[in-house]
Amino acid sequence: MNTALPQPPVSVSALESERSPAGLRTLLELARSAKADERIHDGLTAALQAWELHGPEEQALSAASCGELAAEIGCLVVHFSLRAGRFPQALDFGRRVLQVLTRPDQVLRRAEVLRFLVGASLELADFENALSLAMEYSELADRHLGVSEQSRACAALAGCYSSLGDHEHAERLTLEALALAEQGPEGLPPLVSLNNLCAISINAYFQQREAGDPQGAQAALERSLSYARRLHDGLALMEHPEPALRALATGNLGEVLLHLGQDAEAEQALNETLQTTETMGLLSIAWRMRYLLAEVHLKREMFEQAKDLLEQVLQAGAQATGVPTMERTYLALHRCCKGMGLLQEALEHLEVGRRMGMQRTRAQLAVQSRLFVTRLEADRSRQMAERAESEARRQGELALAYSEAAITDALTGLHNRRHLESRVPAVLIAARDAGRPMSLAMLDLDHFKSVNDRFGHSVGDQVLVRLARILRERMRAEDHLVRMGGEEILVILSGASPALAMEICERLREAVSVHPWNELHPDLQVSVSIGLACSPEYDLNTLIERADAALYQAKHAGRNRLCAAAPT
Ligand code: GH3
Ligand code: MG
Ligand code: MG
Repeated sequence: MNTALPQPPVSVSALESERSPAGLRTLLELARSAKADERIHDGLTAALQAWELHGPEEQALSAASCGELAAEIGCLVVHFSLRAGRFPQALDFGRRVLQVLTRPDQVLRRAEVLRFLVGASLELADFENALSLAMEYSELADRHLGVSEQSRACAALAGCYSSLGDHEHAERLTLEALALAEQGPEGLPPLVSLNNLCAISINAYFQQREAGDPQGAQAALERSLSYARRLHDGLALMEHPEPALRALATGNLGEVLLHLGQDAEAEQALNETLQTTETMGLLSIAWRMRYLLAEVHLKREMFEQAKDLLEQVLQAGAQATGVPTMERTYLALHRCCKGMGLLQEALEHLEVGRRMGMQRTRAQLAVQSRLFVTRLEADRSRQMAERAESEARRQGELALAYSEAAITDALTGLHNRRHLESRVPAVLIAARDAGRPMSLAMLDLDHFKSVNDRFGHSVGDQVLVRLARILRERMRAEDHLVRMGGEEILVILSGASPALAMEICERLREAVSVHPWNELHPDLQVSVSIGLACSPEYDLNTLIERADAALYQAKHAGRNRLCAAAPT
């Protein structure tokens, strides 16, 4: 296969022996300009050589923080490795660079590396790693960076959800990212969000098609097409659109057109993208284009051409094409060989494709079950809480028991209003001083009076006990759960940004609605409505008022839903 790349304007290898600072500068300049012009192969070669030249002390990155030069070179290596589809290399360098990017003036670089690492992990189907990196990125952006970076972090998180099969959530988060990006300076970030929206709705299309929902699938395609068009218009308005984004956009448009049955236009867009990405060295995208072009041939029953392309993709290996493209390639080869009457070969491809699909599902499920309300964080906090608890035990079990009893609600074991009034204001002030976001959710059982009326007060009590348990199991140690009285519970989420708080509350709402309530009574169904208010307001009473107003809206809008108060 011909993947010949254009020669660099300055011969990189000529500099190889030049172990002088001047050589290093030249290489760095070369890599920077290659980044600007999207010459990925040249850039990667230059950045790797600069890294070598930089000398073992800084390169080993053993110091507590590394110099600006080493940081820049490291970031360039990660940038180009990811673009070149060298995912394991991107991960390896990225992890090393991340360890030492600790200085406050390096947060932007740290954010960049985190973003790249999320991308590489997703391509290698390492969902768990991707998610925890995306969360770190999102926290970093929320605390220290502006809206553009917050938008990108939100989009990275959405990429994880999409890969985990939760496209609806991914789309919602990316729309949020788009809204954030539109608050920032004009240019790239909104367009990046549009491109992500396009890709996410293509994934949704696949999922809905597999789930036997042709209408849902068609709707996803149409959304994808409209995102692609908006992106296209946005790029047309830019003076110097980033070539990689333009290529990605054309590739995604090609894929949408293919699924919409506009094969000729699709083929043109896919071919154009194949050429540009190959010239740039954006190889994993080029592999995806080959797979998609094979799908065009398959539709036309041009089996030989399709098989040729698909086998090229197979040869490249999943580490270069990305795991998702490889899975689809095996399934396409199955159809292709079947069409050619090569039944044995068809079966073999089907088996590999299915096995990959099963592995993916297993990995997705494993992460999904751990994900529930940022489970990773929850575990860490729980360990800390356990340690703190045994410490407290040593200090006097009785005293603790008495003071706990005074601030605990007897039925549910949740905290009561006394706790709210005596402890929570200080928590809010500390968060305000530390610049940590706080979110406060008011949660109220829907039609609880009729639960009592229909099934008796004792069933009502058990509903409250179970609700408390559902909430407690999903909260982190630093969060607060307060029974305000009756069937109203206040949830205080420490350090949760508005986006994360929305996500947590939505999961809580869902957890209540899917709980097997029929264990208490065969006809019992329970749901909650939630009103959410978030900082920058840190006054308890004002936050409660805003959450209450949002709760009222949720009730009014039909219950079993979440409403957020408008930001102050
Ligand atoms: P909505 O969805 O609009 O909030 O309707 P609702 O019926 O839940 O609201 P309403 O405020 O009319 O009724 C609340 C009910 O909660 C009334 C009361 O009997 C019940 N309740 C309050 N505390 C307890 C309790 O400790 N145990 C039981 N079983 N019921 C309680
Ligand atoms: Mg109620
Ligand atoms: Mg109520």
